[in-house]
Amino acid sequence: MARKQSRCQCGRTKSQYAGYCRKCTAERDASRIAVAQAVVSTGLCPQCQGKLKQNLSITGWWQCLQYGAVTHRADPSKAACSYQTSTA
Ligand SMILES: [Zn+2]
Ligand SMILES: [Zn+2]
Repeated sequence: MARKQSRCQCGRTKSQYAGYCRKCTAERDASRIAVAQAVVSTGLCPQCQGKLKQNLSITGWWQCLQYGAVTHRADPSKAACSYQTSTA
């Protein structure tokens, strides 16, 4: 039986289980990481302009200080923010 081939949007063959071929996956990761690093270098949340903090439980994971439950927010009087990003 022939192995089932499927194609990435760029035309290269890819694993039928993967969304994209290796090259596209690497490019998408690189551009995502570049965007995340640019945001983290400002130290500010792009959604609410609040501060970002690094979540040390996962390498490269940053989230807004207003992220999550009210007890976890830096300022409970302000609205929650769902921004988080990863530079890894
Ligand atoms: Zn591709
Ligand atoms: Zn925010």
